[in-house]
Amino acid sequence: MIAANAAPENVAQLRGVGPKTAALLTELGIDGAAALLDYLPFRYDDLRFPTPAARLGETGGEENAVGRITGVKERRVRGLEIVEVRMVDDAGGTFVAKWIGRNRYAYGRFRDGMRLFVRGRVERNLTGPILSVSHYEQLGENEPYRGEMVPVYRASKDLPSRKIAAIVKKNLPELLAAARADALPPALAAAREYQSLEDSYRAVHAPRAPEEAGRARERFVFAEFLALATAAQLRRRERERDHDARALRPQPDLLARFEGSLPFALTGAQRRAILELWHDMSREIPMNRLLQGDVGSGKTLVAAAAIVLAAGNGMQSALMAPTELLAWQHAGKLAPLLVPFGVTLEAILGSQGARSRTAAVEKLASGEASVAVGTHALLTQGVDFERLGLVVIDEQHRFGVEQRARLRAKGISPHTLHMTATPIPRTLAQSVYADLDLSVVDELPPGRTPIETFAVRTSRLSRVYEFVRKNVAAGHQAYIVAPAIDEGDGMLTSVVAEAERLRGEVFPDLRLGLLHGRLSPREKEEIMDRFVRGELDMLVSTTVVEVGVDVPNATTMVVLDAHHYGLAQLHQLRGRVGRAAAKSYCVLVYPDDAGERERLEILTQTTDGFKIADEDLRLRGPGQFAGTVQSGAAEARLGDLVQDVDVYRAAKLAAERIVKDDPALTRPEHAGLRAALESTPSTRALVLSS
Ligand code: ADP
Ligand code: MG
Repeated sequence: MIAANAAPENVAQLRGVGPKTAALLTELGIDGAAALLDYLPFRYDDLRFPTPAARLGETGGEENAVGRITGVKERRVRGLEIVEVRMVDDAGGTFVAKWIGRNRYAYGRFRDGMRLFVRGRVERNLTGPILSVSHYEQLGENEPYRGEMVPVYRASKDLPSRKIAAIVKKNLPELLAAARADALPPALAAAREYQSLEDSYRAVHAPRAPEEAGRARERFVFAEFLALATAAQLRRRERERDHDARALRPQPDLLARFEGSLPFALTGAQRRAILELWHDMSREIPMNRLLQGDVGSGKTLVAAAAIVLAAGNGMQSALMAPTELLAWQHAGKLAPLLVPFGVTLEAILGSQGARSRTAAVEKLASGEASVAVGTHALLTQGVDFERLGLVVIDEQHRFGVEQRARLRAKGISPHTLHMTATPIPRTLAQSVYADLDLSVVDELPPGRTPIETFAVRTSRLSRVYEFVRKNVAAGHQAYIVAPAIDEGDGMLTSVVAEAERLRGEVFPDLRLGLLHGRLSPREKEEIMDRFVRGELDMLVSTTVVEVGVDVPNATTMVVLDAHHYGLAQLHQLRGRVGRAAAKSYCVLVYPDDAGERERLEILTQTTDGFKIADEDLRLRGPGQFAGTVQSGAAEARLGDLVQDVDVYRAAKLAAERIVKDDPALTRPEHAGLRAALESTPSTRALVLSS
């Protein structure tokens, strides 16, 4: 026994925790009383209100009921015990509670007249509601039912949530005594109208109502975000203070010379982005900038301008792309842009032969070659640079923090340019990428024929395919995209089945390739290569076709079950056509009854990826962008950087103020925050520049 309010350090000192349970807690990462207190429930079972029998089954989720037993039926079927109990509730409504289990879990336990609380999913059939019991309690004869909110914790096989909840409940005063210092400065907690830390812990572990738990949870999410944002802010300060990058200064006429070497004029957006980059690179503070722009907006050219600046200052550059195909395409587009400046380029690819790899590696190590373009192969040992001054990372969200760091480590504080063709709403990007500056290429080069987009009902699919046939007959290629690989993934069209149908019935005379995520990388690459070489008329695929893949002769994109995708994703898909002067088409096919026309209509009206991303944010919420944003940014344990972006934004503002006023975090009100920074591993692994 421990005295009340003495702070136990070890979980084994807690009531109800023996050595075995202590070990199981440790497996869940709970290594002490404070950690157990910080182990917050991820949801609650609301056992407070029984539903009258007449209304059971309306929610589709788990429901509660209280009643008295009027009949018990028990049977055994192949080792399974099935118990069905007829109940009548206080209002006189009847329902059946049902248990299926083993080992006398419910068998033999119930008698007429007993009062029970039961919880579970409800099905209604002709005889009335049937509740499959997931949890029950026997109530005393006149005991009023007083249910609680039951916290649900992440659990393991041998340590169920129920057990964790019981330990927390039994030891709450002791756990509270072991609480870590509050990471929120008191004035900030007050300004956000949060309860005290202690009340917040009580409210998340033992709430009386969902609202209470939600508000308390926000306090912890805010505190976590504050630590993350502060760490990012401190890192940015450090980066800006270090002054250890090479300042790469453009000669006054460089922009004119660069533009003069092109067969066309720069767009306004390209010129702005180039000047932003060059400005960053002319400082001794290493650049850390994200270049966002739609497919086809001319980002490669902006990257080329950065490479030309580096080379003019005697520094090498490395560009890393997520696939060989993309790396090849980059190399092909960059080389002619660099030639006028005498800048030479080497490719470093996984599939490269040993001889050509050795030659390339030697030229980079000696400084004879100025630019390396490649895949992850760039990260391998032995690929070294004489003086790497610029790192360009294409589709940055496809690489992990560590991979980006490894490439940077091949130079000494190189300037870094991250590129993405996936427009993320500006507001979201600015908040989430705490340590990145943002450049946006939001203007397409002139003279492009805009892609014509149609939204069409599935019942008119045969017309769509006639249209595809006409375009193929004119010598062009087409993409046909569907969401599922196999049949049976709900109601979605399967590429395998659709490809078979197209081959057999619709286009038996045309050359058709099938591409999906279950093929091996070799198979995928081979099919893609054949499509690139024009040996296939049509590619039927899931969304595995890489963003940025460039097949100018492909002019038609058909998306089946378009209602299944977010607008931003559809826009990405559409970006795979419209890459040459020929007129291109995108056809969005949706089920007749999907009621999606209005949303898809947005795509028929605009091709501005940023506008579409903003609209998607409005219509479907920030979750849409989780894939692209999260992998690139911080790792939060409690909060969700995208779903909770408003909380994050507030935390980021607070962090900026704190770091500005007290960069060393030495003020007493910042002691808790400093401790949180030092103890949280995720704050270390969070920023793109790390
Ligand atoms: P992104 O990498 O952003 O998808 P690219 O850099 O590959 O775009 O450019 C797409 C195409 O547009 C290329 O063929 C390129 O030569 C062309 N292009 C780029 N900038 C301009 C411009 N300012 N005027 C005309 N064509 C341009
Ligand atoms: Mg590109």
